[in-house]
Parts: sequence; structure tokens; C-alpha cells
Amino acid sequence: MVTGKFDISMAVAIFGGTFDPVHLGHIKVARDLSEHLGITPIALMPCGKPTHRLRPVATPLQRLEMLELSMSRNPHLIVDETEICNDTPSYTINTLHKIRSRIGSAETIFLCVGSDTLNHLDSWYKWTELTNYCHIVAISRPGSPEKYSSPLMDWISSRRSIDLAKLKQNPAGYVYHCELSLLDISSTKIRQKIKQNKSLQNLLPKQVVDYIHINHLYR
Ligand code: ATP
Repeated sequence: MVTGKFDISMAVAIFGGTFDPVHLGHIKVARDLSEHLGITPIALMPCGKPTHRLRPVATPLQRLEMLELSMSRNPHLIVDETEICNDTPSYTINTLHKIRSRIGSAETIFLCVGSDTLNHLDSWYKWTELTNYCHIVAISRPGSPEKYSSPLMDWISSRRSIDLAKLKQNPAGYVYHCELSLLDISSTKIRQKIKQNKSLQNLLPKQVVDYIHINHLYR
């Protein structure tokens, strides 16, 4: 298990989320992203105080511990603690700014998001500035077809690229769509299943199931 900051000498790929809890859908997509983008490791970055949704049920420490358990012995993944250790709301633009100050302006940053997240990108703080700091990789997610407002559609269209090599040669600036085979799992469904005492088979890593039970989470 590796927890920490990025290696300065390579392109970085961040996969952000609430991870309340992390599930096999997240792990699979992060591993497939690593292969598709040719970048290891992918940094899973849990938010501290989400700005677009209710407060997570699990505490920041519990979400962090579940993430760490979920990736034990997986060399493709690390946890980045930039947001979760912070008490202020997690605005992605501020996080990217911090990462840029850490790694400099030349390295390529990929910000990976599910298609459901891209659909409401125009509600994010200073969203039009995001590609000044990174490329955005949008992963198609089951049940979440593209649904953009017209300003968001225009913004995406003017930045869209299908050329991964070009993205890698530039530190930031493009939106790239990525088709991966995804598992139809969500943290919301998992929390509901736990409340209803239903089976969690094939939804979560075993260590995370044990952690949830031991800590009486999501009851
Ligand atoms: P919730 O149901 O609580 O909203 P979630 O399952 O969507 O949670 P998040 O932590 O909100 O998980 O998502 C983090 C990122 O992972 C988002 O970009 C989201 O689109 C993506 N994601 C979530 N589940 C999957 C999945 N099964 N396959 C691929 N991407 C996923």
C-alpha cells in the first residue's frame, strides 16, 4: 500500500470522488484507466468536504482507511490526501492549483471523472478554468448518457481531442472521452443494501466489507 504525493517525474492521473464507500466499480475503472492512459499509478483522491452533495456518511478517516484497504498490494493505485486532510470545501480548481505548485507547470495532469460528473461540470467553481491546469478524461458510465448544457457543450467541443499522444505532449488543455467497460455499482446502492441487510457480494473488496461491519457503518 502506498499513500502519498505524486512522483514529480511523470504524468499524473487523478480520480476524485467521495468514496463513501470505495467499491469494485471504482477499483476496476482506476485500473483500466491506468492501462488505457499508460500511467501508473492512478491517484484516487477522496474529497474532504464535498461541495455538490450531502456530507458523506463515513468520516474522512474512515473513507481514507477503506480506500487504503481496497488497494493493498495494488501497484496501479495510490491514495492522494490533498483534499481529505483539508477542512475547507473541496474545490477542484484549488486542488489543481496546489498540485501544480507542487509538480510545476510542465508535467501532464489528467483529471479523470465519470460521465455523470462531466454532465454537471458547469456547476463547479471556476469550471471554465479547469483545463488551464489539466486535461479532463471523461469515462462513460452505465446509465449516464451525455447531457450537457449548451455552454458546457460549447466548452467541451472546443477542447475535445481523441489523440492521447497529443494529450501526453501537453500539460493541460483538452477533454478526452474514454470508453471503458464499467461495473454497474454505486456507493448509494451499497449504502441502501447495507441498510436493508442485503448481500454485498461482488460489490466491495472483502477487506472493506469487514471494515464496514466492524465499524457498524451505513446502518
Ligand atoms: P454515490 O452513489 O454516493 O454518488 P459513486 O458510486 O458515484 O457514489 P463517487 O465516489 O461519487 O462514487 O464517484 C467517484 C468517481 O467515480 C466519479 O467520477 C464517478 O463518476 C465514478 N464512478 C462511480 N462509480 C463508478 C463505476 N461503477 N464505474 C465507473 N466510474 C464510477
